[in-house]
Amino acid sequence: MLVSLSTVPHQPINNQILGPDAQQKEECLCALTQRFGDRIIRDADRLLAYSYDATSQRHRPDAAFIAESEEELRYVLQIASQYGMPVIARGSGSNISGGTLPISGGIVVSLTHFKRIKSIDVRSRQTRVEPGVVNARLQEALEPYGFFFPPDPASHRISTLGGNVSEGSGGPHCVKYGTTSHYVTGIKALLADGTPIICQESLSIIDWPGLLTGSEGILAIITEITLRILPKAPSTGTLLAGFQSVIDAVSAVSGIVRAQMIPSTLELLDKATLDTVRPFMDAGYPHSDAVLLIEVDGSPLSVQAQLQHLVNVLQQYHADPVIIAENPEHAHQLMAARRSAYGAAARLASHVWTQDVTVPRPLLAEMMSHVLTISRRYALAINTVAHAGDGNLHPLIPYHPDDADEVERMRKADHAILQKAAELGGSITGEHGIGIDKLHELPLMYSPDELAAMYAIKMAFDPENILNPGKAVYPVQNTSYTHDVGPEQALNRLIQPRSVDELRDTVRQAYVQKIHLTLDKHGVHKDACRVNLSHLQDILDFDPDNMTITVQAGLSYTALQSFLDQYRLMFPVIPLQKDQTLGSLVAEGLPHLAHLGYGPLKNWILGLSVIDGTGRQLQFGRKIMKNVAGLDMPKLFIGSLGQFGMITTLILRLLPKFPEQVIYTLDHQHINSEQYESLVHAFITTAPGPQGLWTMGNHLTIYVDGHDLPSQHQYIEQICDRGGISYQRHDALDILAVTQSKLDTLFDQARREHSGYVFGVGPLPHSITTAFHALDDSLWIVPEASDNGVQQLHLNGCRVLNHNGWQVINLADSSLTKITERLKQYFDPQNVFGHP
Ligand SMILES: Cc1cc2nc3c(=O)[nH]c(=O)nc-3n(C[C@H](O)[C@H](O)[C@H](O)COP(=O)(O)OP(=O)(O)OC[C@H]3O[C@@H](n4cnc5c(N)ncnc54)[C@H](O)[C@@H]3O)c2cc1C
Repeated sequence: MLVSLSTVPHQPINNQILGPDAQQKEECLCALTQRFGDRIIRDADRLLAYSYDATSQRHRPDAAFIAESEEELRYVLQIASQYGMPVIARGSGSNISGGTLPISGGIVVSLTHFKRIKSIDVRSRQTRVEPGVVNARLQEALEPYGFFFPPDPASHRISTLGGNVSEGSGGPHCVKYGTTSHYVTGIKALLADGTPIICQESLSIIDWPGLLTGSEGILAIITEITLRILPKAPSTGTLLAGFQSVIDAVSAVSGIVRAQMIPSTLELLDKATLDTVRPFMDAGYPHSDAVLLIEVDGSPLSVQAQLQHLVNVLQQYHADPVIIAENPEHAHQLMAARRSAYGAAARLASHVWTQDVTVPRPLLAEMMSHVLTISRRYALAINTVAHAGDGNLHPLIPYHPDDADEVERMRKADHAILQKAAELGGSITGEHGIGIDKLHELPLMYSPDELAAMYAIKMAFDPENILNPGKAVYPVQNTSYTHDVGPEQALNRLIQPRSVDELRDTVRQAYVQKIHLTLDKHGVHKDACRVNLSHLQDILDFDPDNMTITVQAGLSYTALQSFLDQYRLMFPVIPLQKDQTLGSLVAEGLPHLAHLGYGPLKNWILGLSVIDGTGRQLQFGRKIMKNVAGLDMPKLFIGSLGQFGMITTLILRLLPKFPEQVIYTLDHQHINSEQYESLVHAFITTAPGPQGLWTMGNHLTIYVDGHDLPSQHQYIEQICDRGGISYQRHDALDILAVTQSKLDTLFDQARREHSGYVFGVGPLPHSITTAFHALDDSLWIVPEASDNGVQQLHLNGCRVLNHNGWQVINLADSSLTKITERLKQYFDPQNVFGHP
């Protein structure tokens, strides 16, 4: 039996973009000039400013426009889309991938006047900003609140938050705190035809903010961003360690990870970089072959303990000297030398090519020595700096653009670096993006089907290819193909595949026979065949030095944690329901008990494999900490309840399991609302703060773990004692079991009574609250609940009853519904997986 699919690529379209002809462009610009006059910039000299980015290439747009309001931007998009005119969003133009270059002309729209910080709400740990706000300006605005925005690209003084979000930018602090994608909770944007969309992490079953983050301006133009912010640690410590070889330095990085430490910065400079930086800036760096620059943060007590621990570990790896910064000025000096690495390299030649690749951390040494070999092979001086804790390297290649031979060698060296990173299971870009520069290297990481899936997302958002065309996703041709699925087979009502291949064949049979499949747990269609993945529970790869594990989706959460216990590691997600398989946990993507401290579940999923509704096997993400190669596809599948594909494999990021986990419970009945609010405020706005804070019944529950336990205990106990509030302290493992079994009872009760149940993850009333529709175990996320305590509520579709009466929750606006339908059509055209 042959299956025909309609949208599978065989050949890439050459990078020719079919746009408007000269007359259409002229008509479009005339229409815009009629409204905006000479604010539509067409003068060649003035257009120069919009013709470049931080690469050395130039492309002149047909026009540029500095938008002053969303309404103006919407008008530009409406007119441009009528004529098929490309529109390229631009922040500061500091990207290093050709991302803002108007390669086929069009209008460059500058967002730099969208620069309001609209709100800073420390109680919900969120800020709302316009996309033109410069990263450093937000940091300054957060300072008086004792908060910070962790992603800190070296370009933070010039780059905008719109640019940071669109590139999924990283920086030195990402080793502990994660990249920009970990911090975007909401996005307002305009689609290519000017239609506004509002995307919020907690309101929809598709993680739209997650999909838009890192999308390089090809899906929508962002007009407002809601970002998670964190309280700043009260104290930091900085340390520099010199090594006789880069291999020793990289081994020390593994040693630090193995010693279960998480510095807030872990940077590496190789000998070539040190030799270049030294004459440029005397920061007292030793004459070593490599240097590690490390920062730790926490309470003063914990910082001292961490520094001491680090010194012990580093000495085991022959670090000499080890210099601890004596004061903040000294620390600043050490860090400034690292920041000047690019400037110093720029003294060697008129141009510096900045490369950006990521490999699994334990393979950093192999990658670094490969870069050395390449530098010798092509007779180029390559300086390498690395965010070593993330396995993210920046080989810097100074070159002279008028020396054709050197340029040729530089290109070859560049390609060899990308090829090696991909070969080692890494990424061709960890933080700088694809733009146009790495477009044709994407096949090093993805199969034709995977590339086509990314392109399908672009087409679902922007079918006329208006927004930043020719960037970020590999252009593919829509051709049809067929594959043989063998003879037609009757499918059982309960299917328990023994292998992923068997599951794939089942899905293909279901596709051909138009049968619905549903995961055992998500009983959506009464006439569907149920699929149970309990035989797919292998651990496929465990890499403790990399802090990653790759598992099949049928493995249970409990089995995973007990496996990790043996190695003193953990997957820092504490689900509301125990005994779930990891596949269903990820497909649901719910808030979890340690959401406050460890962030959402999606932050801990590095990659996944799925089988879509046509039987295509797709794999996105790798066992690396940073990856912005193409669209962030796992975000389409996390939390979308299996509607686009069945998850078969997951790559999870791990953390050291701290020796002690403690729960405090405070009885609400003995706290008045003022006390409650000030308690919660204090916990949320203080670093490091609890990892979990939730309300259940009459109890406020506080969960703490981590390096800073003694100071956390002291802090919590002080607050309670000061307010005369009694508390109980328990071993966390017990209380979690109790919490979960109490929840189970409540779910059972809700199921019997055909009702839902409100549970505050994060303290109510301003928390993300999860309401379970117990009838079919589907669920809705309700942004705010009504009370400090537990409530019963009834759910019917997306109506929720709280103290305000019935409310209709707008789960997705109609523009997003249209995009969802296009995605469904691509990934599951026969509706094999049904609508959840
Ligand atoms: C010296 C130097 C150091 C750097 N260091 C780092 C680093 O440490 N880490 C790192 O990750 N990067 C770094 N970069 C790269 C760059 O600064 C980042 O990619 C940054 O996020 C780009 O911000 P921008 O405002 O300049 O965006 P732009 O370059 O203007 O745009 C970047 C992309 O985002 C899109 N875009 C911009 N605004 C919007 C919007 N509102 N809506 C939709 N799309 C939009 C653009 O179309 C483009 O595709 C560095 C660059 C330089 C020059």
